[in-house]
Amino acid sequence: MIERGDYRQVRDALLAVVKPVETEYAALEQAAGRVLAQDVIAQEDIPAFARSPYDGYAFRAEDVAEAAADNPVTLRIIDYIPAGEMPHTKILPGTAAHLMTGAPVPEGANAVLPFERTVFSKETVTIREPAAPGSNVILPGEDVRRGSVVAHRGSRIDAGLAGTLAGQGVFCPEVFRVPCVGVISTGAELLEEGEELSPGRPGRIYDSNRYSLQAACSQAGCRSVFLGTGKDDPGRICALLQEAVRTCDAVLVSGGVSVGDFDCTPAAMERAGIRILARGVALKPGMAGAYGTGSRKIKYGGLRDAGKPGICSKTPCREEKDGRCTIPVFGLSGNPAACMTGFYAIALPVLRRRMGLTDVLPPLVRVRLGRNYTKKRPTERLLRGRIDPGAVIQDMDIFEKQGNQVLSSLAGANAFAILPPDTVLSATDEAEAFLIDF
Ligand code: AMP
Ligand code: MG
Repeated sequence: MIERGDYRQVRDALLAVVKPVETEYAALEQAAGRVLAQDVIAQEDIPAFARSPYDGYAFRAEDVAEAAADNPVTLRIIDYIPAGEMPHTKILPGTAAHLMTGAPVPEGANAVLPFERTVFSKETVTIREPAAPGSNVILPGEDVRRGSVVAHRGSRIDAGLAGTLAGQGVFCPEVFRVPCVGVISTGAELLEEGEELSPGRPGRIYDSNRYSLQAACSQAGCRSVFLGTGKDDPGRICALLQEAVRTCDAVLVSGGVSVGDFDCTPAAMERAGIRILARGVALKPGMAGAYGTGSRKIKYGGLRDAGKPGICSKTPCREEKDGRCTIPVFGLSGNPAACMTGFYAIALPVLRRRMGLTDVLPPLVRVRLGRNYTKKRPTERLLRGRIDPGAVIQDMDIFEKQGNQVLSSLAGANAFAILPPDTVLSATDEAEAFLIDF
């Protein structure tokens, strides 16, 4: 077991054992944001034929080699080709075809000029400039070559990828199922929506972790379900954890992971059959934590409707061999900001692996700090702040409040600057930062 490890070490220990969820088929129009589970190989060249990028005229470049303003060349129009139609005849010396954007360039022709650069009538087109062979002709396969991989398993379906899949006739791609994350809170002091904060209940607080974690899950592209509050009751927390492992694809539990009298989450995790891989992290905020894995059977769907959108067949992930899957369980600090640093530093990459994404680690950028940070501590620290993604060297606005109970400074943050142990940093110093939203 890793004790007080570097957060990267804890994260990587989980990444080493966690696999993507099963796959299913989704209708392309509903697949935006989903993670593709198949490589898509181009079956055809795109375009499949030489194509005109303009409304204009196709002809033999040789015919206009000498053309100039004082030496116009007039060609006879022998064909008319709208997009989607095939040419009716071959282009011979001294002739041209009138064609539309996207129409096939006819045999014999090897150049196109847009109509604006010609003088034309119904019967003839006059050209006053030379055209190089191949000019304004889109060649077959110029966009996509037959046999090339146009889309990779593990990439998220964005606008460009959706169009690329459609271009290949893939209207029902194989995607990873959207993982469902079970969220559990602990702490006898927590109040739920609808309960009165005070005056009758001094010392009580609203449960905020649950909402932060569920929002972070949706932003990451996962579903989430709140399973309840275990108070500080080990039996109740254990039962919630067992339910979570049985019904969800990952579990986030916050609070009770420190060494206080009522901190019973790690013991409850063990009682629930969760193998703990790491206890405590050398990270501020987020020092308290218990990270482990549970295991359950993979649920298979029927194979009858294989290939149809929606329900379809759920196929087990190729990596899972024995019909069981590993459920990551993240026992996060109760302090709201510490809870969320644990989420972003350790849980999010592991959830991304579960989603099927190939790139699971946050991009690292160099940043210049906009504020002194002079609190020297022996532990690595993550500073919430905001960078301007448009800048070449990122100036990072380090937010003022960095305490592990302060959640307000996570609102609007889009990066964590990494403050190495035993260092102080001044404004204009450079540091490394990782992005939260990627
Ligand atoms: P714990 O890790 O359980 O000792 O909690 C540390 C601090 O975080 C305590 O002040 C708790 O009241 C607070 N806390 C724990 N869980 C939550 C939660 N779900 N929402 C808001 N604050 C919490
Ligand atoms: Mg507690």
